[in-house]
Amino acid sequence: MTAPAVSGCRICGGPVSEMLDLGRQPLSDAFPRPADLAGEFFYRLGLGRCADCTMVQLVQEVPRERMFHSDYPYRSSLSSVMRAHFTGTGRELLATELTRPGAFCVELGCNDGVMLRTVAAAGVRHLGFEPSAEVAELARQQGVRVRTDFFEEETAAEVHATDGPADVIYAANTICHLPYLDSVLRGARLLLAPGGVLVFEDPYLGDILARTAFDQIYDEHFYYFTAHSVRAAAARSGLDLVDVRRLPVHGGEVRYTLAHAGRRTPSPAVADLLREERDRGVTGEEALHRFAADVARTRTELVALLRSLREEGRTVAAYGATAKSATVTNYCGLGPELISYVCDSTPAKQGRLTPGAHIPVRPPAAFADPYPDYAVLFAWNHADEIVAKETGFRAAGGRWIHYVPTVRVR
Ligand SMILES: [Zn+2]
Repeated sequence: MTAPAVSGCRICGGPVSEMLDLGRQPLSDAFPRPADLAGEFFYRLGLGRCADCTMVQLVQEVPRERMFHSDYPYRSSLSSVMRAHFTGTGRELLATELTRPGAFCVELGCNDGVMLRTVAAAGVRHLGFEPSAEVAELARQQGVRVRTDFFEEETAAEVHATDGPADVIYAANTICHLPYLDSVLRGARLLLAPGGVLVFEDPYLGDILARTAFDQIYDEHFYYFTAHSVRAAAARSGLDLVDVRRLPVHGGEVRYTLAHAGRRTPSPAVADLLREERDRGVTGEEALHRFAADVARTRTELVALLRSLREEGRTVAAYGATAKSATVTNYCGLGPELISYVCDSTPAKQGRLTPGAHIPVRPPAAFADPYPDYAVLFAWNHADEIVAKETGFRAAGGRWIHYVPTVRVR
């Protein structure tokens, strides 16, 4: 059933209906120390849809300073697949959009400089926005020019005044994080050169629904984009959606290209994706109702599997203390009594507990010492990379537990 509208759409002010309730959740990237559990922040994670512009969005907003603080732990460079993806993106932007002398590239949420270092190494003018101080420092060490700040209309105007217009504004897994998207788009329109482009890639609602990837829903992902909803949001700020490209990273993303209205002819891919979304019903309410039923079934099956393994005396761990996994563990009620520990390569998470569920986080070396009987693959978006790296686990008789798109043991 559709819950009553809980608030206005953050894009257009239209009525938002809640489609899925994932319950009380912690900040997905806040890993408490074992002795320091009293101060954990919780909010209610609900997914809503705007009846007017179709934008799918969270019904409660977490203040950005709580999420993207100085010791925000996510590092884009830790995955070799993602390093290759961003190096390729940098080269492509250099070859296509940053060709004029004095070209200028801005990145929002540049993290540790994984993309911009390619632009910097080519000697092209650039600026990364990164509000998290520690990770911004890592980008500087890569030779990247960084402003430790949030990108919005006001800061965009400051950059325009000091550096001039931008040929490219790029953002990966950042735009969907920003509830104040209207201000970001107005800032982009202001900062972009007349022929410039805003290029951004984020998880795609069509893939989330198709794979029942409900763990893509967490505090940092405020919006769940489609070509329809991005086109509608862009139009409100004087921008056109001129290209889309499906990307296989992070469980299925789309790269959207926006330009000043009327400056570029949209590629055929835009019309193709809009048609596909209509045909599949991705932008309607029905698809979200089906998704909510699928999510509830995944929870029932995953909890039943883990309980039965525990009753049989099997050892169960997990792999990848991802932001995604906070949604799974807290929505399904999976604590250390069902998953003994989780291994993760991020030093800042090791020795701490997972948000809300309080599963101990250990370094990857602990995974083989000894291997558990079963391991829940929380970092399923890096499954190929992890399964290839951990061949010893399967060789020792270990089995991976997957839950996207369905619960199964491999
Ligand atoms: Zn709306």
